[in-house]
Amino acid sequence: SARQPLLSVEALQGWYGKSHILQGVNFDVCEGELVTLLGRNGAGKTTTLRAITGLLPRVEGAVRYGGKELIGLAPHVIARSGVALVPENRGIFAGLTVQENLSIAIRRHSIWTMARVREFFPELEHRLNTPAGKLSGGEQQMLTIARALLTGPRVLLLDEPTEGLAPVIVERLVSLFSHLKTEGLAVVLVEHNFEICLTVADRHFIIDGGEIVWTGDSDSLANAEDVISRHLSLE
Ligand code: ATP
Repeated sequence: SARQPLLSVEALQGWYGKSHILQGVNFDVCEGELVTLLGRNGAGKTTTLRAITGLLPRVEGAVRYGGKELIGLAPHVIARSGVALVPENRGIFAGLTVQENLSIAIRRHSIWTMARVREFFPELEHRLNTPAGKLSGGEQQMLTIARALLTGPRVLLLDEPTEGLAPVIVERLVSLFSHLKTEGLAVVLVEHNFEICLTVADRHFIIDGGEIVWTGDSDSLANAEDVISRHLSLE
């Protein structure tokens, strides 16, 4: 499409110490679009999200967000500018209540007010005074996403959000992701469940060995058996 990407990752390279993990990652996402990052364990998906959000010690290439270059900015500056990461380990404060976890995430100018988020996540409503560590896995994931939304992001990066959750919760999350698109968010989803990817995503980027090796829409991916067996199936 002729749409301008909101986030554009170009020739991104990244290192952990001497290990050269990202070898040239290229992808982009527009407002109101959801793209997936697919790949086997160790392909570099989490490292890519960490590089975008300023959490990798050494990065080269470009990460353009609106007109702005993100590489070199501190993680809190990137977060404040509107790029939110929902990490795999969820990053909630287990000893604080749900309400406290939400309160510390809030930003003054977000369209996601506390009232709106509570309406959006009715499953958290009766848990507000519960320590976050006592929530079920599904509730913890809702809380993590709720916290990310309260920071008022325009780009949401989700690292395996459905991992280990019951099918009914997964379904709920998938419809939530679709809704976030209609709100104009640009969403990047790292997801192992192929069916979920085909359902919610507009475009897919397959990463292997630290670089993007294939790009296409859901129709192309569903028919690309060779690509799937070469880059996605387990050995
Ligand atoms: P997964 O599905 O397992 O999360 P992934 O595609 O997200 O896979 P990454 O976590 O990005 O993969 O890992 C990419 C490579 O970087 C792997 O070889 C991994 O061993 C390495 N790596 C990850 N974290 C570190 C670290 N903190 N220090 C050194 N190497 C790391």
